[in-house]
Amino acid sequence: MDGEVRPGGGFLVAKTPLEGIYSREKFTDIQKEFADTAEKFFQNEIIPIIEQIEAKEEVEEDGVKQPLSIIFLRKAGELGLLCVDIPEEYDGLGQDIITSMLIAEKSAGSASFGITVGAHSGIGTMPIVLFGNEEQKRRYLPKLATSELVSCYALTEPGSGTDALSGKTTAVLNKEGTHYILNGEKQFITNGAWADIAIVFAQVDGKYSGFIVDLHSEGVSRGAEEKKMGLKGSSTTNLVFEDVKVEKENLLGKTGDAPKIALNILNLGRLKLGVG
Ligand SMILES: Cc1cc2nc3c(=O)[nH]c(=O)nc-3n(C[C@H](O)[C@H](O)[C@H](O)COP(=O)(O)OP(=O)(O)OC[C@H]3O[C@@H](n4cnc5c(N)ncnc54)[C@H](O)[C@@H]3O)c2cc1C
Repeated sequence: MDGEVRPGGGFLVAKTPLEGIYSREKFTDIQKEFADTAEKFFQNEIIPIIEQIEAKEEVEEDGVKQPLSIIFLRKAGELGLLCVDIPEEYDGLGQDIITSMLIAEKSAGSASFGITVGAHSGIGTMPIVLFGNEEQKRRYLPKLATSELVSCYALTEPGSGTDALSGKTTAVLNKEGTHYILNGEKQFITNGAWADIAIVFAQVDGKYSGFIVDLHSEGVSRGAEEKKMGLKGSSTTNLVFEDVKVEKENLLGKTGDAPKIALNILNLGRLKLGVG
């Protein structure tokens, strides 16, 4: 707090200046407003339908059957709850990390739906916010801000969980140099059944790299929903890629950037799960 390092329980006996203590009384009016909007949304709109969400109920809207979670994800988008971390120039609200954490805290009571929101606006969107180039940000962030496009984050594989950077999925640049050809399988992917795009990690000549992948591309298939002990309302599936063509422009950063992208994003996710 004052920069001095005190061994062991030294902090218990040291004098702590009051101004060094962060408390909820220090939230700004804007942060409180977002927290209030989030609390009202989750308490008044999600908690009353939590059993339908847990049952992954689908309802007909505009003549198409849609998961209730996706309909309410769009409502969260209308309230601005999905885009506080997205800069204003890409149609986001450009708020600080405290605001984002407050929304995560309020979402945690509706756990399955909170995870759907977090996978989309956190681990599914932040790789583009933090590591995307100008063209990628312009192309994807405005649609992620509203959830017109739903996103997910695909790192885990059947043989690569805790050892997260040992994935075997490959991306090979075609001879024309226009597309990477993606092959492999990802496992336990939140929003797997519902997402339009995925942040996928793959080996490019032995360099683990991140890509933005259109999940409606030829060669993408999605597995059955995992039958989980909890979080039953969130979608968790595997994703299989068989010769999927990914535009060269959809490489995130440089080849070999996966450790930087994947681990920084996981840290943000852990922070949010922590406040939840
Ligand atoms: C509900 C849910 C949602 C998920 N969503 C996503 C998602 O959106 N995207 C994504 O990419 N992944 C996702 N995951 C995957 C998650 O990140 C992995 O489950 C996690 O990384 C652990 O990997 P694993 O399940 O393969 O377990 P393993 O790595 O096989 O670990 C099994 C056990 O062994 C222990 N262990 C492993 N290695 C060692 C070691 N060297 N020494 C000692 N103990 C060890 C672990 O602590 C654990 O207890 C999700 C998982 C769940 C359950």
